[in-house]
Amino acid sequence: MTYAAPGAFAPVSRLDSALATFNVDKPTLVLDTELVAQQYHALKLGLGFAHIHYAVKANPTREIIERLVEIGSHFDAASRGEIELCLSQGAEPQHISFGNTIKKPGDIRFAHNAGITLFAADAEEELEKIAENAPGAEVYIRVIVENSQADWPLSRKFGCRASMVPDLFARAVELGLSPLGLSFHVGSQTRRAEYWAPVLDSVAEIWNDLKARGYAPSLLNIGGGFPAFYGDPIDTPTSYASKVMALVTERFGAVARVMAEPGRGMVAEAGAILAEVVLVSKKSDDDAHRWVYLDIGRFSGLAETEGEAIRYQITTERDFDEFGPCILAGPSCDSADVLYEKRPILLPLSLKSGDKVVIRNAGAYTSAYSSIGFNGFPPLDVIVI
Ligand SMILES: *Cc1c(COP(=O)(O)O)cnc(C)c1O
Repeated sequence: MTYAAPGAFAPVSRLDSALATFNVDKPTLVLDTELVAQQYHALKLGLGFAHIHYAVKANPTREIIERLVEIGSHFDAASRGEIELCLSQGAEPQHISFGNTIKKPGDIRFAHNAGITLFAADAEEELEKIAENAPGAEVYIRVIVENSQADWPLSRKFGCRASMVPDLFARAVELGLSPLGLSFHVGSQTRRAEYWAPVLDSVAEIWNDLKARGYAPSLLNIGGGFPAFYGDPIDTPTSYASKVMALVTERFGAVARVMAEPGRGMVAEAGAILAEVVLVSKKSDDDAHRWVYLDIGRFSGLAETEGEAIRYQITTERDFDEFGPCILAGPSCDSADVLYEKRPILLPLSLKSGDKVVIRNAGAYTSAYSSIGFNGFPPLDVIVI
């Protein structure tokens, strides 16, 4: 059996100092917006002329949006609420794309009235809604990615097949919309830039087909997928992003406008969760495995442990003691609330109830997923430093 390596200590950063000083009595995500800004600049350096539209859903904490507006980020919003959040922090409406392909007419109208001009679609009915509620809008067509090698792939829920794209372009023109180009999502946590190559190949085929039919696509939205560090080695953000852009240029040549929508890659490493061990137990005297129960689980912030897909690194104050495997679980009375069992994780053998643990690089898709206190356990608190 292979076990995840115990979490490594990062050099003492502003975030680490904050984690060491805070004394909290419920699971708390501590976020350093300075780290978000650093990550933005590092990604921007690699992405070159491409515009960054931060995918707000990864972490909608107000201070993150405020900081990103200050340093010139654009935004990908999926709902009226996310649009209102970005506008309230001073984002220009022309810097916000309404990237959800499933929008209510009233929300499209709201966005249009707020000055938003760029919308995503992957179906004829969606184009009709956009034409009616945001007449003359710019649209891009989202296509399905078939060959994702991501750790957290996005399903067939979004995008249309290649064969539908020309029809949707034609329909958009008929409806008085301006179809600018294509979007896709390579799958979240795509650990290596090389994994983008086959996906970009298939999108380029659609792009070239559009050109052959007399369209002049000018917008390529490469979506998210930029990875965060969860234990397996990854490239630096700048190197990863520049490799992706090189793959894009190889296939698409000079594109007038490229958008990238990092979510996880922008915020995951800017935050860590302070949590606590509630119980360490064995199911029988000869049970080979310890069970370690935390005060945070699948339903209070760690949703991405579903399928053990995202493996967070966990550090404790006992990391100088001997380590052993354990099954890690959350506190709620739902048997699905087990974080890691198929691949147990290594934690110090001396770990016991009351010990503080730090869940590293947990700034993405945690607080956003824990807005309701399932089973009476408090949703993840957030402190911005
Ligand atoms: C969720 C989402 C993203 C962000 O994906 P990450 O893998 O977190 O970078 C980008 N674009 C769209 C349309 C999304 O739905």
